[in-house]
Amino acid sequence: MRVVLVGPPGAGKGTQAQFIASHLAIPKVSTGDIFRYNVSAGTELGQQAKAFMDRGDLVPDEVTVAMVKSRLAEDDAQSGFLLDGFPRNVPQAETLKKILADWGLKLELVLELVVDHDEVIRRLSGRRTCRKCGRNWHIAFDPPSVADKCDECGGELFQRDDDREETIRHRLEVYQEQTQPLISYYAGEGILLGIDATGPVDDVTERALLALRRFVR
Ligand code: ADP
Ligand code: AMP
Repeated sequence: MRVVLVGPPGAGKGTQAQFIASHLAIPKVSTGDIFRYNVSAGTELGQQAKAFMDRGDLVPDEVTVAMVKSRLAEDDAQSGFLLDGFPRNVPQAETLKKILADWGLKLELVLELVVDHDEVIRRLSGRRTCRKCGRNWHIAFDPPSVADKCDECGGELFQRDDDREETIRHRLEVYQEQTQPLISYYAGEGILLGIDATGPVDDVTERALLALRRFVR
């Protein structure tokens, strides 16, 4: 199963991706997670990406696409994958289509997580991320049992630099300008399905899995 999750920053893509991917036994491929890992490990890729991420801008397409292509070529992605945070603009979507076509494959579904602007701001401003395993928490909506400590792995929780107010505003503009056009692009391809991503996390997961079962054969 080859699926893309799309939606504004804070829509819950990462949160849902971990549950959906484990339910379907396919890898979750999150470009944001891969970039953050590389930034903290100080790799060349991390150095190329850092300034763009800090500003809330997109990392250049050639860097991002090369990284995704090599990730999707790995063994565990051969039976499918769930992309979270990629593609982020129409040129990336076109390139992904070409890469998959060269491998005799295509995307089966693009699942749009639909949440309004105010909810996205509430979610992003309270997000805390585990330094060790990358799991996202929320200070009000999904708090860990001990403040600033990840329940899953005991890692330290921190607020992402790009989750500060100024950068949040810019990332939402970038979403509107560059990523939102993907919605009509994939609608035109006949593979877009939007689901209501408000309400409890489990309810959203249930809606997502239902949609996947209905639309992906
Ligand atoms: P994205 O990957 O789309 O940027 P995340 O999955 O990181 O978004 O979610 C953003 C924040 O919102 C996180 O702090 C997460 O805990 C919280 N969150 C995710 N889903 C829900 C939900 N259904 N209700 C309330 N908060 C949520
Ligand atoms: P995310 O974790 O998805 O919110 O992504 C965090 C940051 O990583 C973004 O603000 C971008 O700077 C960068 N990034 C993630 N995915 C992409 C992508 N597909 N294209 C370009 N930049 C990306």
